[in-house]
Amino acid sequence: MAKVCRKVRQSLFTKLALVLTVGIIAINAVTFSLYVNQKREHDTTLNRGLIIYARSLAEQVGSPPSKARAEALARQGPMRITLKGAQSWVVGETEKRFPERFLEPRFSIDGIEVLNIHENYRLRVPVDAHATLIFDLFPTQAQRFALKKFGWFSLAATCLVMFLIYCALRHYLRPIQWLTEGASAVRDGELDYRVREKGTGELRELTETFNQMSTRLETLVEGQRELLLGVSHELRTPLTRLKLRLEMLDTTADTAAICTNIRQMEAMITSLLDTAKMHREADGIRRRTTDLTRLITELAEAYREQAPGIIIDVPSYALTLDIDPDKITMALNMLLDNAMKYSKPDSPAVEITLRRQDQGITIVVRDYGIGIPEKSINHLFEPFYRVDESRTRETGGYGLGLHLCRSIVDAHGADIHVESTPDQGTVFRIVFPQ
Ligand code: ADP
Repeated sequence: MAKVCRKVRQSLFTKLALVLTVGIIAINAVTFSLYVNQKREHDTTLNRGLIIYARSLAEQVGSPPSKARAEALARQGPMRITLKGAQSWVVGETEKRFPERFLEPRFSIDGIEVLNIHENYRLRVPVDAHATLIFDLFPTQAQRFALKKFGWFSLAATCLVMFLIYCALRHYLRPIQWLTEGASAVRDGELDYRVREKGTGELRELTETFNQMSTRLETLVEGQRELLLGVSHELRTPLTRLKLRLEMLDTTADTAAICTNIRQMEAMITSLLDTAKMHREADGIRRRTTDLTRLITELAEAYREQAPGIIIDVPSYALTLDIDPDKITMALNMLLDNAMKYSKPDSPAVEITLRRQDQGITIVVRDYGIGIPEKSINHLFEPFYRVDESRTRETGGYGLGLHLCRSIVDAHGADIHVESTPDQGTVFRIVFPQ
């Protein structure tokens, strides 16, 4: 929740919306106060009329002021009449609250003062040196209604304007969201992802440049793969010939050592070729409906005799999925080989689990071996990445297994995740979304 709030607060969209809203409110406030000031200065006719009205009201109350006459007068409208001085009384709307705090002086002639706020008027008329008559005029029902109507109308207009700003900003900033999605896709290896090119101006230019950059990147990477495929292919044939020749020679210590090196080179080239081929998706994947329960049981059975052993946890029914069984077998074998290879002699058995879950069909390979340091986790699927050389010298890998494994999983439209704790073990999770 806190993360979402921080994201919303930091988003460019929120900031622009905020700046525009504050701008609109500020412009409205300045315009309104200018208008009110201007109106106050120029409303001389109305102010003179109010002074005459105040005088006439005071005359009707009489001199000295009569409470009975004031009562009769107050009955004519929503009004309160107060006498302040040696004698004091209040008549009329005695219960109603008058917005005294907000009253603003409007005009004054011959000691008669007019104060007002939102259709509430206070007329102060001096009776003599010690007494003052105060007439508080409340807005009538119709005026109140007009005021309320004005308030609601302003609120609705403000909401409408803000909604329109929101829609406009969303519309104009959409390319930024598309660009962010595009950048994430390219970061995750989807080099053929292209961002929608819409609109005009700088954002359009940025989108076009981004797409050109992705195309260039894709061409470069594709070229590299083709080169790798070509070179590996070309290297394999003479190497195989050399190996056969050497095997036919007398097996001295030297030729045995050369043979071992050549075999290693051959294994490496085969891995390279498999990896490169897998990237050509059409070549790589031949889907057919496959019973995963059976596939996993059969391939895992082969590890029964190996230390530290294996626990197979699959559903009792056939869980079927459209996959390339050979490629998935290859990927799972690589994970199981690693799990066995990196288990310690006294580690608990490796586990392979198959489940149908909310997020999709999940295969988990868990070991309780040496684990992987946190800094290596993000690089694990990169080609030729090995956690550390000394480890690899013992286990003899080229750092291509997991890269190939991810290529296979990607080609199936599935995801692979890894979690690991050094000295406690590692979990690889493959999820086929449904
Ligand atoms: P390799 O053939 O060298 O094992 P991988 O691509 O299969 O290459 O693995 C890359 C690196 O990840 C390995 O060098 C190894 O250190 C580490 N690794 C892979 N799987 C595990 C595991 N289950 N436990 C610990 N380390 C692992």
